[in-house]
Amino acid sequence: MERIGFFGTLRRALVAAATGLAVAALSLFVFQLGAIWAAAAGIVVTALVSLVSLRRDAQTSAVLAVERDQTAMLFSPLARDLFENLPDPLMLLDASDRVLFVNDAMRSIVGANVERKHVSSFVRTPSLLTALSRTARTGEPGSIEFSFHVPVERTYLAYTRRIGADPGVTALLLHDLTSQIRSEQMRVDFVANASHELRTPLAAVTGFIETLKGHARDDTKAREKFLDIMAVEAGRMRRLIDDLLSLSRIELNEHVPPSGEVSLGSVARDAVTALQPLARADNISVEISAAPDLPPVAGERDELIQLFQNLVHNAIKYGRPGGHVWINLALAQATGGRGADCVIAASVRDDGEGIPSEAIPRLTERFYRVDVKRSREKGGTGLGLAIVKHIANRHQGRLQIESRAGEGSTFTVFLPVSRAPFLASAPTIAAK
Ligand code: ADP
Repeated sequence: MERIGFFGTLRRALVAAATGLAVAALSLFVFQLGAIWAAAAGIVVTALVSLVSLRRDAQTSAVLAVERDQTAMLFSPLARDLFENLPDPLMLLDASDRVLFVNDAMRSIVGANVERKHVSSFVRTPSLLTALSRTARTGEPGSIEFSFHVPVERTYLAYTRRIGADPGVTALLLHDLTSQIRSEQMRVDFVANASHELRTPLAAVTGFIETLKGHARDDTKAREKFLDIMAVEAGRMRRLIDDLLSLSRIELNEHVPPSGEVSLGSVARDAVTALQPLARADNISVEISAAPDLPPVAGERDELIQLFQNLVHNAIKYGRPGGHVWINLALAQATGGRGADCVIAASVRDDGEGIPSEAIPRLTERFYRVDVKRSREKGGTGLGLAIVKHIANRHQGRLQIESRAGEGSTFTVFLPVSRAPFLASAPTIAAK
């Protein structure tokens, strides 16, 4: 419906004047009437056109007033404010399926300026249109699930209700199911991945048991070899179960702030001592350097030891045989972000194979590996960095990964300190 404003009135006056002038010109030059008759014809036509326009304006104003009355009658200003600010998208339709009201949340889905439009002109989901018209026709409430696929896939549960006396108003309320569906899918994927990871070593162990019971029963050499392989596979299952349990324990506590105070220097030294035999086996040297007088961080000691162990173990596993691993602890100042402003940047650097840039964003996903075969050969579970991320989250910290294929990798965890020291010389880092 066209709104009447100053420019609308001006446009109509100009159209009337132009029509009058055209008629006057025609009378004068084409029909050869005298100047007085031509002027009179022009004036009469201008007056007639203006009259018709005025009548149409009056009708339009009347319809707009009815519309205004309709929405004003629908709810009080307080109720309108409430509906407008509802987090769930809401739309009200009149008896002929034209929009009476949409709130802010609905506008972000269907777009602005849909008032008075027929719902089928902007809703393109047949099942939703059918549910709306059934509710409008029969008064029966309905609920259907539907998805939009662009710009990003979203799934909604739509409730349709008829409210008020016949013909009444049809209300459409949407409930966003996207994150619920996504987390259900993640749980299903996680169970499928975990069972797959366990099934592989279990199948190997079962196979060797069958062989040892059968034709290799009296073969001492084969028995020794198979028992060794079974021990390796059993170790893999144990590590996987340990990591799964750690992950679920850390996730359970993720929203409980840690209560202790921990010196990261001593945590890093403990983690390195435990991994020294593995480093020696590959002839890798591990070096720790820490700024003097580092303040403690607010944290859980066991979890922070696990965080360092996972990072240092990865640096050894994927590092260069005969190479180096450097652990550095330094004070830094975070600009913005969560937690305290003063943080300790704990970095673990190696000179190994590095990581392709496209893989970096996925490294903390459970069971994601750049090279599955290599990870398995090294006894990896694919859960180490997921555990690191959750421990960092629980400590209000953040993990940063920098790497280039062939040039080594640096994993840095920023952890807020529990007591901020004087920070004149600490470098500033941007926190997310
Ligand atoms: P995994 O048990 O397989 O080591 P993680 O979650 O610890 O699992 O690491 C995930 C993947 O990230 C690894 O499989 C490996 O591909 C890659 N990765 C982790 N740390 C490093 C590193 N220091 N250098 C190169 N790649 C790494």
